[in-house]
Amino acid sequence: MLHLKNYIDGAFVEAHDGQTLEDINPANGQVIATIPRSKSSDVESAAVAAKKAQSGWNATPMAERITWLETIADALESKHEQIAQAESLDTGKPISLARRVDASRSVENFRFFASFAREQKEMTFEMKDAMNYVHRNGLGVVGLITPWNLPLYLLSWKVAPALLMGNAIVAKPSEMTPLTANILAETLDELNLPSGVFNLVHGLGPEVGQGILEHPSINGISFTGGTATGRIVAATAAPMFKKLSLELGGKNATIVLDDADMQQAVDGAVRAAFTNSGQVCLCGSRILVQARIAEEFNAAFVKAVSSMKIGAPGDEESQIGTVISMEHLNKVESYIDLAMEEGGTILTGGTRAMTGRLGPDHNGAYLAPTVVAGLSHLSRCATEEIFGPVVTIHTFETLQEATEMANATEYGLAGSIWTADTAKGKALAQTIDTGIVWVNTWLHRDLRTPFGGVKNSGVGREGGQWSMGFFSETTNICVKDQN
Ligand code: NAD
Repeated sequence: MLHLKNYIDGAFVEAHDGQTLEDINPANGQVIATIPRSKSSDVESAAVAAKKAQSGWNATPMAERITWLETIADALESKHEQIAQAESLDTGKPISLARRVDASRSVENFRFFASFAREQKEMTFEMKDAMNYVHRNGLGVVGLITPWNLPLYLLSWKVAPALLMGNAIVAKPSEMTPLTANILAETLDELNLPSGVFNLVHGLGPEVGQGILEHPSINGISFTGGTATGRIVAATAAPMFKKLSLELGGKNATIVLDDADMQQAVDGAVRAAFTNSGQVCLCGSRILVQARIAEEFNAAFVKAVSSMKIGAPGDEESQIGTVISMEHLNKVESYIDLAMEEGGTILTGGTRAMTGRLGPDHNGAYLAPTVVAGLSHLSRCATEEIFGPVVTIHTFETLQEATEMANATEYGLAGSIWTADTAKGKALAQTIDTGIVWVNTWLHRDLRTPFGGVKNSGVGREGGQWSMGFFSETTNICVKDQN
C-alpha cells in the first residue's frame, strides 16, 4: 500500500496533524493508498511557499517557462504506462482508455501550451504619437481544484497554462483519485522545478478545497467539478474578488437526424454515452432521435450497447470498467429506480455486473451500460446529471422540437448532432445552448478552441488563448514617441 504525502515548498510532507484518508480501489474495495487529510493550516504552508516562489517564477523569461513545459511533457511521456496504470487503478476505468485518453492527453496538455505559446506574437496598438504594448503578468498564486473522472488530464490542463503564464500553484486533486497528481509532483521534484512553484495538498473538499477558496493570498481559482460544488466555490471566492473559472456539470444531448449514416450515428452515440462509464462531463446522456428512424436506430443502439465488454479495469479487452465508487454506484442505481417510478422501460442493462465473479474483482462498482426509454424529456432522469452509464432515449419530429428538447435542462456544456447534411447540422448546432456542439463526431478536441459551459455548466472558457488569458493579468504599456 502507498502512503502519499503533500508536496509543499519542494518537499513531501505529512499533514500537520498527521491525519490520513484512504484511497479505495473501486474494482474490489481494497485500500490502494493513504493520503494526508490536510486542513487549512496545510493550505497556509502551501500558499506561503507559493507566494514566496511566484515572483521569481514570473520573472523567469517566457521562453524558459516554455522549455519547462516541454521538459515536463517529456518526463511525463516517459511515465506514460505508469500514469495509465495508476489512473485505471484509482478510477476503475479500462486500462486501454487510461492509456489512450488520460495518459496521452496529460502529456499533450504540456506540449500543446508550449507550442501554442511559441506561436504567440506580442500584441501592439500603434497611435499617431505612441505605441501601446499589451503585457501579460501571472495572476500570482492560483488554486487548482479538480475532480475524479479524468484526474491528471484535467489537472495538467490547468497546471500547464498556469505555469506558462508565471503563476505559482496550490493544487488539490480529488481525494478519490490522488495517485497521478502525486506522480506529477514526483516528476516536477525530479526535474527540480523551483521549490514552491507547484504545491500539492491532498484532502477533502470542504477542508482543503474550502481552505484554498478562502485563502487571501490565492488570487485566482480554476475549478472543475459538479455544479453544486461550483455554487459553493463562487459564493466563497466572488466576494474576495478572486478571478474564477468554473467548469461544471452537463446533461448533454446526442441528436440523431433521420438522414444520418446509421452506423456512424450508432457508434458515435455509444461512444458519447458510455466512454468512461458515462463519467465524462461531455457524455451524451440523452439521445434524441428523429421519429422516422427511431425504431431502427434504437434497435441498433441497444444491440451495440448490450455487446459492450464489461470487465476488470486492468483487462486489456474491457470497454466498461467500474464507476468511481460503491457510493456513486448507489447514486446511479437510485436514478434507475427513479426511471422506473417515472414510467421508463429499461431496454438493456439496469443491473450490477461482474457480481458472480470470484477473485479480486468481486464486489466492484460495476454497472451494466443502461438504456432507458419511455420517459418524458422533462423527467428528472432526463434533466439531472446522473454521471454514470445510464442514458435516456427520446423521439422528436421537427428540428425545432429537437432544439427545445436539447435546451430543456439547467445545463449547457456540450452536445452532438448526427446528420448527412452538415450545413443543416451546423445551423441546428447554433440553436443549442451549450459551449460546444460536435457535428458527426464527439470529443474531437482542438486544444486551441474555447472550452466551457453556458447556463449552469460553468463560467469562463479554457483552451489556447482563453487559458492564457485566465491565468494572467493583461496590462497595457503606452510609450509616447520622443521626437
Ligand atoms: P465535486 O464537485 O464533488 O468535486 C470536485 C473537486 O472539488 C474535488 O477535488 C472535491 O474534493 C472538491 N470540493 C468538494 N467540495 C468542495 C468545497 N466545499 N470547496 C472546495 N472544493 C471542494 O465533483 P466530482 O464528483 O469530483 O466530479 C464530477 C463532476 O465534475 C460532474 O458534475 C462533472 O460533470 C464535473 N466535471 C466537469 C467538467 C467540465 O469540464 N465542465 C469536467 C469533468 C468533470
